[in-house]
Amino acid sequence: MKVVIDEDKCVGAGQCVLAAEEVFDQREDDGIVVLLDALPPEGQHSSVEDAAARCPALAIEVLK
Ligand code: SF4
Repeated sequence: MKVVIDEDKCVGAGQCVLAAEEVFDQREDDGIVVLLDALPPEGQHSSVEDAAARCPALAIEVLK
């Protein structure tokens, strides 16, 4: 699994961080997503899928 984020689409809703805090964080100043791990381990995959599904801006792409 490879995770790609689009900072231009992100609206800083933070849903991704709630779903997978080991893979996503948010910039302190404007809340835009920060990708912590573009190649998350197996155990994180379902959380990352959940984060992508929850993102209201469709800013998270999961490549398999
Ligand atoms: S859920 Fe989407 S819009 Fe919200 S911070 Fe994460 S990437 Fe950005």
